[in-house]
Amino acid sequence: VKSIAVLTSGGDSQGMNAAVRAVVRSAIFHGIEVYGVQRGYQGLLNNDLRQMDLRSVGDIIQRGGTILQTARCKEFMTAEGQERGAEILRERGIDGLVVIGGDGSYQGANKLSKLGIKTMGLPGTIDNDIPFTDFTIGFDTAVSIVVDAINKLRDTMTSHERSSIVEVMGRHCGDIALYAGLASGAETILVPEVPFDLNEVSNRMADNFRHGKRHSIIVVAEGAARGEDIAAAITKNNGIEPRVTVLGHIQRGGAPTHNDRVLASRLGDFAVRKLMEGDSGKSCGIIKGELVVTDIDTVVNTKKSFNMDMYDLALRLSQ
Ligand code: ATP
Repeated sequence: VKSIAVLTSGGDSQGMNAAVRAVVRSAIFHGIEVYGVQRGYQGLLNNDLRQMDLRSVGDIIQRGGTILQTARCKEFMTAEGQERGAEILRERGIDGLVVIGGDGSYQGANKLSKLGIKTMGLPGTIDNDIPFTDFTIGFDTAVSIVVDAINKLRDTMTSHERSSIVEVMGRHCGDIALYAGLASGAETILVPEVPFDLNEVSNRMADNFRHGKRHSIIVVAEGAARGEDIAAAITKNNGIEPRVTVLGHIQRGGAPTHNDRVLASRLGDFAVRKLMEGDSGKSCGIIKGELVVTDIDTVVNTKKSFNMDMYDLALRLSQ
């Protein structure tokens, strides 16, 4: 491997910059030329690549977002688009590509790999919805942001507004809700992976107040329900009027936590070393603290399993 490229794609996440930095500096350390692709697959099709040096990734390890920017690219969903992308990389003599992104970005990397480009995927998304890795880059920071927001909400809960519903991101994955809910002592955590009954949710809140709880927090994953709908059902059942907070995109911003920076740094370096070994079409991940690779094909065709033990624990501790 003489020359590689790196791109960020799909939704951005905190720690993407740290991952780009690791890919660039690790490649240069090993004597490999490295190019940054601006704006994901769209930038690849626009031939928007620039050579990176050690200094081009200075002062970014602590920044949210991605200096390479990201985009969603329809053209790359087509076979012609993918072939053109592979052709552009070949013409430039680039023999490896690191794709940092979520599920959709992985699909694109998988296609390029099948067209003969050596590709490595790094799980860059706050959602933690990529299987074969315990954590994705950005997840830890997003959870910290949610926990911080819930701490603040607890402070403002008065006797009239002592119940809160916090709607968090995660798409079809409940992990942000699960971890943030457990970490902030939420009474109820609603996730797409576990069916729930709105009557039970309302009764639980009413019971909690009867038994002397002074505040009640429900964390709901966007993939499970809308916070407003949960609030309306509770009001209808019990007359309680919970306040709804939809955290939205602030969950994707801000400085990455040290966990995300360390994860991104380890995974970025690992991806480069795997490409040097001739590996391709793989997703890099971390399982029980160990770096692992898994076929992207397997990753995109597997649903991430949900940690029911942790969910039950959160319920037990929130009585
Ligand atoms: P996040 O989960 O954080 O939103 P993502 O990577 O899943 O990130 P997507 O918008 O789904 O975000 O995908 C990013 C880009 O990857 C798309 O705009 C498209 O260019 C490419 N892509 C997605 N799906 C495919 C596919 N099936 N084949 C080829 N390319 C794809």
